[in-house]
Amino acid sequence: MNRPDISLVIPVFNEAQNLRSLAARLASAVDACDVSYEAIFVDDGSSDDSLEILRDLCAEEPRFRALSLSRNFGKEVAIIAGLDATLGRAVVIMDADLQHPPEVIPHFIEKWREGYKNVYGQRIDRATDPKLRIAFTHVFYRLLENFGDVRLPPGAGDFRLLDRQAVDALLTMRERARFNKGLFAWIGFKSIGVPFDVEDRAGGTSKFNFVRLARFALDGLMSFSSIPLKVWTYVGLAISAFAIAMAGYYWARTMVFGVDTPGFPTLVVSIAFFSGVQLISLGVLGEYVARIFNEVKGRPLYLVAERLGENEATNGKAGD
Ligand code: UDP
Ligand code: MG
Repeated sequence: MNRPDISLVIPVFNEAQNLRSLAARLASAVDACDVSYEAIFVDDGSSDDSLEILRDLCAEEPRFRALSLSRNFGKEVAIIAGLDATLGRAVVIMDADLQHPPEVIPHFIEKWREGYKNVYGQRIDRATDPKLRIAFTHVFYRLLENFGDVRLPPGAGDFRLLDRQAVDALLTMRERARFNKGLFAWIGFKSIGVPFDVEDRAGGTSKFNFVRLARFALDGLMSFSSIPLKVWTYVGLAISAFAIAMAGYYWARTMVFGVDTPGFPTLVVSIAFFSGVQLISLGVLGEYVARIFNEVKGRPLYLVAERLGENEATNGKAGD
């Protein structure tokens, strides 16, 4: 069994418009590098013609393979499904919409040859994204930076090259609420950034709407920070201290001036306030418990419906 130098992993969700131009650009960029390679497309339950196009591409090009997942599992899981299938000495992960220019791959390979094991593409700006998304992204990264237990290099995303050693490390982590960007940083290894210009999406639209991105951001924060869980102890302590002080104040007042107004507003306000605090902290607990529940169920990360262009050696791998 021949091990290629480079395995490319490309998650695909309704990218029919982009696949052919991607395949062409990819082949010419990597061919220039004097490496052997394979490309693994992961069809993440597309509902357009993506799978049919992949079928053609895999038939035309022996170095292309594809997995078709049984439904849409999300990009993070699609990437892991692809990584599970790789054989290469290094793996390059990239989007299918040509926002990650294949022409950067030779620079990745150069750095890899210099001994770097975690070579990440660093986007030069986020000008192609909507303003609101840029603002929220900024807040999210600031939160993670201050309260999380990983350091994410600025501008780094999924577009990267990982040495086999880093890939194997990554694949030991089978968590379900996946935030790959955090995991890429968590594994460490000798890392370096390679700047690249994000291109406009070639065709189609982004698969991440606001709600999906918000869920994803929450996954990221919850997987890499337990601060939201712990902060309530301090909030609770502060509020209780305030309540005791308030009690002292009212006691002293009553002793000096006797009972005045029945204190209806104070009561209503404090009941509402403390109920709010309790519900929020319960909600935070719930978020973590739901994630624990998900992990404990131990379901496979993904299910493969079909493998294209595959040889026996890699068949029958489970996605647990
Ligand atoms: N993608 C996927 N599964 C999903 C959503 C997206 O495999 O559920 C793929 C998509 O086909 C693309 C990559 O992930 O190759 C990035 O998606 P997109 O371009 O929509 O995200 P954005 O660039 O807006 O972050
Ligand atoms: Mg994109």
